[in-house]
Amino acid sequence: MEFQAHEIRDIIKINYKYTMGGQSKFFIELMKNKKILGTKCKKCGKVWMPPRINCSDCYEDTNWLELKQTGTIEVSTIVWYTTSAFIQAIPYGIAFIKLDGAETAFNQGIFSENLVPSKVKKGQRVRAVFQKERQGKMTDFFFVPEEEYERWIKRPEFEGGE
Ligand SMILES: [Zn+2]
Repeated sequence: MEFQAHEIRDIIKINYKYTMGGQSKFFIELMKNKKILGTKCKKCGKVWMPPRINCSDCYEDTNWLELKQTGTIEVSTIVWYTTSAFIQAIPYGIAFIKLDGAETAFNQGIFSENLVPSKVKKGQRVRAVFQKERQGKMTDFFFVPEEEYERWIKRPEFEGGE
């Protein structure tokens, strides 16, 4: 008689927490005060965003500083396939954005009223929009083309920063 394994589908639910460690201040300020903090190297002065606790160029400690909430797209793409967490948002853009005053770029979502490649291309000026209900996560904010900003922050679920 041929062996047949009996299989049962089930669900494992795990509650857990993790720490943002030395970068916790970034997430706390984002959640509580809608601030975007980077870090500045004490030795060479390089401004890091995402914030680094130690300068990756010269290994010196850094200080926190508040960055502007406007920036420029360095490189981007439009997302059509994603995980379950973001499936309802597609299509949306993602981009490496260099905030004004920062010397490095970070990856963040781009939304647009009219999501076409010309709205999320290199050189596009963007501004941060915040969720009204923030959890201290990167999804607490996203970017929109600067010219759409005033209309996005009028939506009930979003608000502008400083
Ligand atoms: Zn440095």
